[in-house]
Amino acid sequence: MKKRLAPETIAAQACGHIDQATGAIIPPIHLATTYERDPDNAYSKGFIYSRPDNPMTRNVEEVLCVLEGGARAILYGSGMAAATAAFLALERPAHVVAPEVMYWGLKKWIAVDGRSHGLRATFVDATSTDAIAAAIEPGTTRMVWLETPANPLWGVTDIRAVADLAHAAGALLAVDSTVATPVLTRPIEYGADVVMHSATKYLNGHSDVLAGALITARADAFTENAARVRSTLGATIGPVEAALLLRGMRTLHLRVRHQSATAAEIARHFEGHPRIEAVLYPGLAGDPGHAVAARQMTGGFSGMLSIRIKGGETAAVRTAANVKLWKRATSLGGVESLLEHRASIEGEGTPCPADLLRLSVGLESPADLIADLEQALIANA
Ligand code: PLP
Repeated sequence: MKKRLAPETIAAQACGHIDQATGAIIPPIHLATTYERDPDNAYSKGFIYSRPDNPMTRNVEEVLCVLEGGARAILYGSGMAAATAAFLALERPAHVVAPEVMYWGLKKWIAVDGRSHGLRATFVDATSTDAIAAAIEPGTTRMVWLETPANPLWGVTDIRAVADLAHAAGALLAVDSTVATPVLTRPIEYGADVVMHSATKYLNGHSDVLAGALITARADAFTENAARVRSTLGATIGPVEAALLLRGMRTLHLRVRHQSATAAEIARHFEGHPRIEAVLYPGLAGDPGHAVAARQMTGGFSGMLSIRIKGGETAAVRTAANVKLWKRATSLGGVESLLEHRASIEGEGTPCPADLLRLSVGLESPADLIADLEQALIANA
């Protein structure tokens, strides 16, 4: 029944449950960390202790599982907790293939901390399926990790093509779909085995919750391992944060579609602008990732884009300093528009150009956002 409903219907009603005890149309927050055992020593209600999970976590997982078309969803206390759990769920030692350009915090963990966890990584240009094919070691590579569109250059990868390559070599395909969200792309439909979200971003959408999720195409040993990592390492989300996330997800479709439309308008406005070197956005017809993005993204190209400012790093930092409406802050996916000199936060070794500003488009009027950037560019001259 649920699967036949449109995704925005599922999200708006958070799968439509009514609290059996009270009739409340919003699920209650259970703060309990522990649950009473039955007299016969069983736990017939399914809850034991809140480190493995709690009722609100299960509510969010149910919605996410349906939205992504997976077999199981596992919610974590942050996107990093979810992503690292995916790597720690692999049989190790393990070789993994990951993008050169991806969320820098995770890339650093894979490259630096991953070694002590038995991970050997090859980083590749993930916009090239040939480069991914060359990096995969059949029988040895256990997982190919993708992010599409990928931070902060918004390169696009053909999920279907890489799923075929990974599977032919006996590897899993995992996709960080934080930016696309299930509104624009459902990676499992293209053959991905695992979908990862920093739910801190669009899924919650209000810059007030840290959360992460894995959604798996099958409920198998990998899934069990990933859930065990959450439980044993305590990478659990609290019930209040999970409730805020569930509320945010009710408006996911409206927000993402609107943010994508505004981002496209901003990208078109600044393409060819005399003070801008380049606009990076897969929604632009001339973008190198456009053809693949148009195939695997439906209803928009995300609310994320980057602009490269003429005049290099100094001009970029000065432009950021001049904005009045955009907020100078890291993170993305909230209702308020954020702008960031990305190379400053990524630091040494970043593939991010020094003249790049990353824009996370919120729900403000497109005209106001464009006007603020225009005045910031002029003030910079
Ligand atoms: N993946 C992407 C694409 C991100 O942008 C981020 C956060 O910045 C993460 C993963 C990590 O998520 P979190 O900050 O929720 O741990």
